[in-house]
Amino acid sequence: MLNYNSYRNYIRKRFGKPVLKIPINGGFNCPNRDGTKSGNGCHFCDNLSFSPAVKNICSPVEQLKTAINRASGFDLFIPYLQPYSNTYGPVSLLRSIYEPLLEVPNVIGLALGTRPDCFTEEIFAYLDELSARTFLSVELGLQSSHDSTLTLINRHHTFADFVSTVERLADSGIETVAHVMLGLPGETAEMMAETAQRLSMLPVSGIKIHQLMVIQNTRIHQWYENKIYTPLSIEMYAELLGDFLCRLRPDQHIHRIMADSKPEYGLIAPSWSGDKNRSINYLHEYFRKTALVQGSVYRRKTGLE
Ligand code: SF4
Repeated sequence: MLNYNSYRNYIRKRFGKPVLKIPINGGFNCPNRDGTKSGNGCHFCDNLSFSPAVKNICSPVEQLKTAINRASGFDLFIPYLQPYSNTYGPVSLLRSIYEPLLEVPNVIGLALGTRPDCFTEEIFAYLDELSARTFLSVELGLQSSHDSTLTLINRHHTFADFVSTVERLADSGIETVAHVMLGLPGETAEMMAETAQRLSMLPVSGIKIHQLMVIQNTRIHQWYENKIYTPLSIEMYAELLGDFLCRLRPDQHIHRIMADSKPEYGLIAPSWSGDKNRSINYLHEYFRKTALVQGSVYRRKTGLE
């Protein structure tokens, strides 16, 4: 029995059976890499390491069908456009990628990963229309609610950008997911706790949380080599994550509690990121020992208990 509100359980209850989310490379770019906002990307970013889907050069529909054919134990599927910024382009481009995916049998909706600054009024209007006819979830990369950190890691958007996009999407009843990282350079435990508190006050449906990983050839890798940046130990991460979960709202779905990679995909540190099962077990054991309950601090602060 998990003491946090897992997305997997929520989606199973919502659709009455297990649903498989399938990462797909839609072939989009990112304004923080193509020179529009920056040509360097976020200082931690290497999509090759974070999303295996980025290497897939088949069409999005071919990728989806191949993954469905390989899946066992699932009848329902959600294509998850994951790498880069999947709302970055004109509506005609978005339609040409999204709509064929929705026509594949047993696909019950769509999940989009993107940045908070990759929206126009036309895109909002299209997403409104889309969400009226299918399940739609939009994941916005945030990483931190502190603009000082966003500047330090070269995000080229602000927390205010995130807030206005989340509010606009939530007004249309679209599920929103905030993607955040713990252990970003310069962030104290108080700053991370503040990010959790701010998210608990927003119409954010779900949170994807993970540790910052040092990936080969990124700026963070240089900082790590020069001893400017120290990654979190699993013990520190468990403590920060536990505190973060307690400050969220009890109803917010937790999409992920850690990230994993392998040295062959560029993982440099922390090494526990390379052993997902062991690390997840450690985190669950920590939650059990500390009797952690998602939303306990939120409830206390808001007078709900
Ligand atoms: S916004 Fe995403 S894809 Fe773009 S540089 Fe940052 S992490 Fe990479």
